[in-house]
Formats: sequence, C-alpha cells, structure tokens
Amino acid sequence: MTNQNVVVSDVKGMAISVTVTNQTLLSSSVPKPVGVPGGCITISRNKLLRLETGGGGGTRMISAAWVDSMRASSPPRIKSNTTTASLSVTQDQSSWTLNHPSALSMFEQITSASKGKQIVMFLDYDGTLSPIVEDPDQAFMSNEMRKAVRDVARYFPTAIVSGRCRDKVYSFVKLAELYYAGSHGMDIKGPSKCHKYKNENEAVFYQPASEFLPMIQEVYEILLEKTKSVPGAKVENNKFCVSVHFRCVEEKSWDTLAELVSSVLNEYPKLRSTQGRKVLEIRPTIKWDKGKALEFLLESLGYANSNEVFPVYIGDDRTDEDAFKVLRDRGQGFGILVSKVPKETNASYSLQEPSEVKGFLQRLVKWKRLSMPMQYIRKRV
Ligand SMILES: [Mg+2]
Repeated sequence: MTNQNVVVSDVKGMAISVTVTNQTLLSSSVPKPVGVPGGCITISRNKLLRLETGGGGGTRMISAAWVDSMRASSPPRIKSNTTTASLSVTQDQSSWTLNHPSALSMFEQITSASKGKQIVMFLDYDGTLSPIVEDPDQAFMSNEMRKAVRDVARYFPTAIVSGRCRDKVYSFVKLAELYYAGSHGMDIKGPSKCHKYKNENEAVFYQPASEFLPMIQEVYEILLEKTKSVPGAKVENNKFCVSVHFRCVEEKSWDTLAELVSSVLNEYPKLRSTQGRKVLEIRPTIKWDKGKALEFLLESLGYANSNEVFPVYIGDDRTDEDAFKVLRDRGQGFGILVSKVPKETNASYSLQEPSEVKGFLQRLVKWKRLSMPMQYIRKRV
C-alpha cells in the first residue's frame, strides 16, 4: 500500500509498522525522533484498515495519518542536557553519514567514477538551490547560486526538476539555457537558448497530464476558498498539481487543514496526494514523477540506453526519491540528498544545505575546466 504516503513494512498482531520515508517532513532542522528507529511510526491496524476503506469516514482517518506522520517527523527539540538522547542522535547521525557521505568530501571519487562519461545535472529548486522560506513566493536563489548553475550548464546538460509550476520556477532561476521540468516533471520544456548537447532543431516539450488541467484548476479554486478558514494556510496552483502549504499554519490547526484537503480530495478519485516538506500536494494519479521526468530527459538527450552518461540528481524532498531510485536502479550516476539530518533515502551522497550545493557545483566547474585543453578554456571563459 503506498497511498497517503505510508508504506506498510511489517505486520505484527494488531499493530502495523509504517515507514515514514520523509522523516523530517515538516521540519528541516530537528533531529530524528528518539525512539523511532529506522524512521518507523506505528499506526494501529484498525486505523490503517479504516484508512484503506476511504469514503466519508475514511477522510478523517486519512488526514489523521498525514498529521501523525507530520508530527512523527517534527518532534520537540531534544534538550542538550539529556545525555542519552544526545548520544543516540549523534550515533544515528554518524552512521547515516557513513552510508551517505558528503558529496564534497567524496568529490574525487565522484569525478573519477564519471570519467569518460557525459555528466548530466538534475537540480531540484526549493531547499536545493534556494533556502526553504515561510512564503513560497519569496524563495529566491542568490546571484552566486545562479552563476554556479549557469557555469555548470556551460559544461553539462542541466535540468531544473521542481514541484513548482514551470513558469514559476523559471521566474526564479532565469536561465534560458536549462531544461525545466515543472509540476513534478509533468511539464517539461527544453532550453529556449541553443544548446550544444541537443539537436537544436528538435524542441523538447512534454506534458503527460494535460487532460487533468481543468480538474486541477477546479480543485485549486475549491481549496483556495475552503482553506481561507485556516490561518496561515496557503494554496499554490502549480498548473498540473496543487500545493497546500502548512509552513505558516499553527500545529494545532494541522488536523483541520489536513481534514479539509482530504475531504476535497475525496470527491476526485483521479487525484492523489503526496507529502513534501510542510506541504500536501494534490496531483493526477498518472504514473509520472520526477524519476520519469529524469528518464524522459535522458532519452531526449540521446542517452536512453547509453552507458556513456553519468546523471547527477541533487534534491532535498521525498518527491526527489523517485529520481534517486531511478539512478540506483539504472546503476548510473548517483543522487545527492540535501539534508542536515538523517533520512531514509535512495541517494548515495549528501550535502547539508544549499550553500554546500553551490560549493559542489562550483567545484565541478573548476574540475571540468582544469581537465580541458588550455586553448578550449580560453575560448569559453
Ligand atoms: Mg525541494
């Protein structure tokens, strides 16, 4: 069962362990909850059965499960004088870092693995290139970050893959030489500037969920109206999906907001919800995600069945896990999770925050420049 963002991993008597794949769903700065090993929370069997039932009675239980996982991933801060708890968190952090080392400290190993292959760069936006901020409309990227991305795109095909509407993410990034996959990959467009890596006569444009546009608009308008009663709630129309932001909503109102979203969703069986960081996202039930977008873009670039490609995907969100998994399954390139805290992930490496992402991109450019013949560098710089 994968609906409502819970994955059943074990059944023992009356209790069922549920893996929360995004442990810090509503908090990017809190440590992993002590006493929740492996990122599991327990939901009673009865509750889960009611969850599966759906319908009117199921609405409350579904939203309760959302909020349960939100709370499980947003525990109160652990006081510094609780020695045992601190030790446990430290141990947990160090074993996670061992399995997902910093992409900066492993830079040489990464670049040597890419030798002889074409690096293709995939970048999430929020929390990866820009900091997570209270108001999603203010999630600007710095000029230094923009320069780093621009430089990377001079040497490697580069795509921005975001849950945001494509136009919106473009208005933040403002680089015409990139590929953009907005709405979780459901709205893909190639560079508007000439790109040397792609047949310039063949424009890339793909919208696998276009038939859902009227429905998404309708749900957006309903949610916009209904959520007015919840202070701080923000609804964002991302064209092929709708985001309901919890970031500015007091925790005591999470249940109300989640129930409200769930009750609207109940009327639209062709839509489903996924959770991001402090956000519920409503999207079409089609089998399309950031991982599919990555595969589509690799194919567009002529690397569908090639061993000569080395895709690198950097993201911070659970929706990026689909892309990390694709890379892991293909055995090509690797994923880098942006996170300060341990999370269950298919990424191979980690970076703590956007400033480290910038450092990684800058280092990649420097490495590439140094590996090129001098006359070619002079021509391009
Ligand atoms: Mg993100």
